[in-house]
Amino acid sequence: MRVIENVVTLSNAPIPQDADNVYFIQVDQTKCEECGECENHCATGAIQPKDGNDGPRTVADPATCVNCGQCLVNCPYGAIYEGVSFVDEIFNALKDPDTVVVSMPAPAVRYGLGEPFGYPIGTYVGGKMFAALRKLGFDYIWDNQMTADVTIMEEGTELLHRLTGKIKKPLPQFTSCCPGWIKFMETFYPELSENVSTCKSPIGMLGPLSKTYGAEVTKARPEKIYTVSIMPCVAKKYEGLRTEMSDSGFRDIDATITTRELAYMIKKAGIDFKSLPDEEPDFDLGDSTGAATIFGNSGGVMEAALRYAYEVVSGKKLNDPDIKAVRSHKGVKAATINVPKFGDLEVCVVSGLANAIPILEEVKQGKSKYHFIEVMTCPGGCVNGGGQPLFPDVREASLLRSIIARINRRFNMRKMG
Ligand code: SF4
Ligand code: SF4
Repeated sequence: MRVIENVVTLSNAPIPQDADNVYFIQVDQTKCEECGECENHCATGAIQPKDGNDGPRTVADPATCVNCGQCLVNCPYGAIYEGVSFVDEIFNALKDPDTVVVSMPAPAVRYGLGEPFGYPIGTYVGGKMFAALRKLGFDYIWDNQMTADVTIMEEGTELLHRLTGKIKKPLPQFTSCCPGWIKFMETFYPELSENVSTCKSPIGMLGPLSKTYGAEVTKARPEKIYTVSIMPCVAKKYEGLRTEMSDSGFRDIDATITTRELAYMIKKAGIDFKSLPDEEPDFDLGDSTGAATIFGNSGGVMEAALRYAYEVVSGKKLNDPDIKAVRSHKGVKAATINVPKFGDLEVCVVSGLANAIPILEEVKQGKSKYHFIEVMTCPGGCVNGGGQPLFPDVREASLLRSIIARINRRFNMRKMG
């Protein structure tokens, strides 16, 4: 086992049956300064002092951890690491001439990958990312943005069918693409499972498409296709290992890596990222629209689905496709969207799981006025996911907060003593 840029690489990636028992996130006890900042960013209480009230923190129970990685990105001392990495396995697959290795990058990765190579935070580096994936030796780049578009069409259609009673499922409909949110719902609010869209996430759709349609168009044998999901998110590693992700007849997603790990792989391979020309993904499963691009932002899934639903119901195109009312970096943002021929659609965008709890309680009690609710685990959406590069200013802010908390604790103890 070796540690690379806050990633622990295990040569033996876990087998699918183990996903619920795997520690995707763990704490290096020797580095933990006991500041408690991680607990402030954990909505489930999964990270706690190992020995009671104080002491080094640990993820005590993988069942309650939704693998979001928010503790990891906010730990000021770099004490939290990923417990699972497929990097070694992917390098081996890339060396094997008999394996067809497919890369499937998520929308938000192309806005995070530049930062480890010296680009300002948030710079779009999609063209260079595609070029780097080819240099690394991936046989195909099938863009996850393509199935973000499919998700929007499916989820928008499902919402319309729920609204019109064509399918007998309750309202509000929740989005289903965020794996942290899905595990949270399954663990803490299983009674709301019928409210969650039945659509798979974009990567949940692209994995089986790669091994069925992709195999057909490239004449590759599906058993020889090795699919690599590239995500801004640690929880996607859990999603990829879920046993039900096998609609292709094989494991739909063979490996999942984060943006951080892709940056590591590019550096490890000695690729000069900045000098790469801009390239495109492979067309067969690589074409997408602007609606897919906004998926990575909080409110993006909602906005894209609303554009689709608006056009289907009203038969008209929106004069302005930007539905700014649902764009949000706030914890909760509600809006009323008037859809001709339907009326007012009440929607809500939630970012950060702790902010979802009051909204979920309302739905549970049958008091919610909403028709459609987007939930993203990470504040601001996937662009701020737990698998994105670690921003020094986030760490500095966490460090400052942890120092202030310590001073307050000492001051209170002195007062008590
Ligand atoms: S945030 Fe503080 S308490 Fe939590 S693991 Fe890091 S150093 Fe330890
Ligand atoms: S990964 Fe998320 S749920 Fe798990 S301990 Fe960290 S903050 Fe809590």
